[in-house]
Amino acid sequence: MRSLNEFALGKLRALDGAHLRRSLTETARTEGVWVFRNGRRLLSFSCNDYLNLSQHPSVKAAAIEAVRRYGAGAGASRLVTGNHPLFAELEARLARFKDTEAALVFGSGYLANIGTIPALVGPGDLVLIDELGHACLIAGARLSRAAVLTFRHNDIGHVMELLGENRDRYPRVLLATEGVFSMDGDLAPVAALASLAQRFDAWLLTDDAHGLGVVGGGRGSSFLDGRNARVPLQIGTLSKALGAYGGYLCASQPVVDLMRNRARSLIYSTGLPPAAVAAASAALDVIAEHPELAGLPLAKARAFTRRAGLPDATSAVVPVVLGDVDAALEAARLLEAEGFLAVAIRPPTVPPGTARLRLAFSAAHPDDEVGRLADLVRIRVLARDRVPA
Ligand SMILES: *Cc1c(COP(=O)(O)O)cnc(C)c1O
Repeated sequence: MRSLNEFALGKLRALDGAHLRRSLTETARTEGVWVFRNGRRLLSFSCNDYLNLSQHPSVKAAAIEAVRRYGAGAGASRLVTGNHPLFAELEARLARFKDTEAALVFGSGYLANIGTIPALVGPGDLVLIDELGHACLIAGARLSRAAVLTFRHNDIGHVMELLGENRDRYPRVLLATEGVFSMDGDLAPVAALASLAQRFDAWLLTDDAHGLGVVGGGRGSSFLDGRNARVPLQIGTLSKALGAYGGYLCASQPVVDLMRNRARSLIYSTGLPPAAVAAASAALDVIAEHPELAGLPLAKARAFTRRAGLPDATSAVVPVVLGDVDAALEAARLLEAEGFLAVAIRPPTVPPGTARLRLAFSAAHPDDEVGRLADLVRIRVLARDRVPA
């Protein structure tokens, strides 16, 4: 089809012109934080494998054993014949770890969000989302056909204002945010949002993709001050700190039972492969048995921010905001030449004018390399940026 290819080529030319075209670069993560890319071995600060559990011997062994016992794929949707015995075990562990009544495993974190939100709200309802909320929160809200309003990033006062103005106009209101913001690394005021939601009878949903295994003693952003903030809808992924693949919702038993009946991304999609589920279970065991592990990514991120002269890290994610796209690409090239992989993050993943390096710290990063990276960022990336034009 000529019109089809012309359409695609036209779109690609526009992306090229704005230096926003993306491509897939082959990357082999054979040693966890050390990756092979373009024929070179680089220390990666762009993986979300915060505890390096994708490489942990007991996690790998659990995946291999699951393939031996149950095969490579699940064979069908979980509601048909794809519900292999490893799911119940993982869901019980997740619920225990997050201190909720129940848990439900989805095909991915993205699928958990776009399945859960439309099963709870619909036309005539309202979704309030933090303006920096992840693409899949927005996709879930749009799929629901509820009205969508965004609130200023982490601004409790704005949430209160919007709830005050709108709560009575909608039968159901869902309040959605990330627990740890994926591109900025800052924390949502989860406890304050939870009490505000309670006061206005709004349903709080946190997407804790970057919180689990890293903050709140590893239990995530609902446990920030050592206390359980009692968030009724806690979504997350099995593919970051747990080193495997998949997503979850931790919630009450009635909510989980409803999702089994109404979440379309669960019902109409094949169950996760046994290996992914077994690996996630084994990873949760490692975290539960080694509570000291969860503190390491944040400790490394803090050591980095102090030495680089940046504000103190609050999670394993540290943004180095450079503003324009070319500056971010140039900084990534400079670090790559020094042996570090720090992929430039550009719009639309982040707002226009805030292109950045997004550094993700891992328990497995060697301290001396963290120090060397901090010096490079301070002296060669940030200082250059501040030279007057
Ligand atoms: C990565 C991410 C997701 C998606 O999780 P997957 O399991 O990779 O689909 C969802 N929300 C946030 C905030 C994320 O960073």
